Amino acid sequence: MTNALEIRNLHVAVEGKEILKGVNLTIKQGEIHALMGPNGTGKSTLAYALMGHPGYEVTEGEVFFKGQNLVELAPDERSRLGIFLAFQYPVAIPGVSLANFLRTAINARRKAENPEDKGIPIPEFRKLLKEKMDLLEMPHQFAGRYLNDGFSGGEKKRAEILQLAALEPEIAILDETDSGLDIDALRIVAEGVNALAGPKLGVLVITHYQRILRYIKPRFVHIMMDGRIVESGGPELAEHLEEQGYDWLREKQNGLVPEG
Ligand code: ADP
Ligand code: MG
Repeated sequence: MTNALEIRNLHVAVEGKEILKGVNLTIKQGEIHALMGPNGTGKSTLAYALMGHPGYEVTEGEVFFKGQNLVELAPDERSRLGIFLAFQYPVAIPGVSLANFLRTAINARRKAENPEDKGIPIPEFRKLLKEKMDLLEMPHQFAGRYLNDGFSGGEKKRAEILQLAALEPEIAILDETDSGLDIDALRIVAEGVNALAGPKLGVLVITHYQRILRYIKPRFVHIMMDGRIVESGGPELAEHLEEQGYDWLREKQNGLVPEG
């Protein structure tokens, strides 16, 4: 069965101010979608609302996944259901190694599925971690470092992708995973996503820039402006943006340019 994340008429307020004004978007397992748009239009707000951040209040609308309305679930319940969010600004946890963090996360999920579960056996975990790190071309000692503590921008993003690989979610939301990366790091992250993409994973790549889309090829591209998706299309839409910027869309929104 193919699962789909269905966002329907989502309105979200931050500190009492409406930021998202009716977002509709469906992402199926196996599909790669890109969400683009100028800064401050609500892209991160959508990501946080989907994950259930308490500062982002859903005032209207639903988000369906596997027959449940995510809006009614706690963040950890959403995660266990198979939703993953890679943060734009990952937090550091000094004292907790990346490996330990991943094992704890995997065990939390196993325990949720079966309360009797004793946790993933260490040899099995080591094997899994090695497999995923090899897939992402990461040096193995990376797993021994404290989570995000003193990581470069590129290392933080790679750590997020490793979490994605280890948790094997069905829908992954990557918020500006490309920001602050030099071209080599960008390529590594993009190749990681491509290596993980497949019939079981749906991806929403949120990005301000077109450049990551040279490496990750989305089948669908959506543009958000002022809290709504104002345009959807294929990869050609991202190319059009690269050439034209967002101004033509603003003008279209304001009715200054005739349709067609
Ligand atoms: P984008 O990711 O598209 O750049 P954001 O979702 O971060 O946009 O922001 C959308 C709007 O919501 C902005 O006007 C921003 O100032 C506001 N906003 C987002 N998060 C917060 C927050 N935690 N507190 C106050 N305002 C916020
Ligand atoms: Mg953002």
